[in-house]
Amino acid sequence: MLEVGYLHIDNPIAVISSHSNPDLNVAAGLLLLDGFDLDEVSLEEMQASLDRISENQSARNETSAFGLSVTCSRDEPLVQAARLASRHLCLLDLRLTKIRDPIRLLELIPRLKRCGVTLSLRIRPEDLTNELLEKLQESELDIIHLDLRGLNGVGPKMVKKAKDCRGPVIMALADIDEFEDAKNLMSMGADVVSLRGADPEFADWLSEAMHEYDALSGWYNAPKHICAGGDLRGLAYCCPPVKQCPVLGALKKAGITAEEFVYKKLSFARGTPLEKGEGTCFGSLVWCCKITKMCYLRDAAMAKIGLSGKEYMELKKKLAEEILTKTS
Ligand code: SF4
Ligand code: SF4
Repeated sequence: MLEVGYLHIDNPIAVISSHSNPDLNVAAGLLLLDGFDLDEVSLEEMQASLDRISENQSARNETSAFGLSVTCSRDEPLVQAARLASRHLCLLDLRLTKIRDPIRLLELIPRLKRCGVTLSLRIRPEDLTNELLEKLQESELDIIHLDLRGLNGVGPKMVKKAKDCRGPVIMALADIDEFEDAKNLMSMGADVVSLRGADPEFADWLSEAMHEYDALSGWYNAPKHICAGGDLRGLAYCCPPVKQCPVLGALKKAGITAEEFVYKKLSFARGTPLEKGEGTCFGSLVWCCKITKMCYLRDAAMAKIGLSGKEYMELKKKLAEEILTKTS
């Protein structure tokens, strides 16, 4: 479902579990062992935790992705942890608890990345200034892990802000009580949603439900329309930019001219089922709305060429990637 560095994440739910009492049997796409303060915990203990995970996975004939959450007042233990994580092909999730100085952080990221590790940074929105966000986009960081717990309604806006910078993958740690809570964050750009202290049965159920949702819908974290407050990926559903509407602001934010946008859409559609669309508003499905917006014109055009809703959304996903690919 999602490839990040050397990680293959099979479903977009991550479970964070204390390293001293981990729940290794949860069926999440990513299992993160938390609480490795390397001023207190030795690398041998980390190694022992990794061995336990490997043994558990072999016994269950499973290969889901896993990671370690670390912090430390000194750099060297973090570099050693990065080497260890890299050797075990697991994620290193850097926590800011003891790395408050942004200058130290920005020097540390390339140092850790040189160990070949897939790296995430767990950060609270109040620590993520616009300046730091911009620098992180330019760094080799693989995942921004936004800790949104306790933020209620503000969480999705923070996800959208980070997503629209078009940098690392976004993982959102939040208070999730039901499927819709996770889906809301994903529809604003979260690639993965992480849970801390969740009931294992609920985490299993949510992981399975997300897996099925992706298999049925074709795009598990499909965005909202731009005019409904969606992130820039929503440009995949936009009409030709010929009238005053939020598409113009979105294009400006994305740094794409109206002409480039039209060119990118038409070039992508050429030779694909999106090129068709007889009877739709703009004569081509490439300009059509999200599948969840009811429209008998689009549905009739799709039925005529035998295009399923899932295939349509898979194409829209690729289209969004194409539109937002930065050209140098
Ligand atoms: S172009 Fe269409 S879908 Fe996009 S923002 Fe405007 S009205 Fe909404
Ligand atoms: S035909 Fe329907 S789906 Fe296509 S742009 Fe018009 S309203 Fe949207």
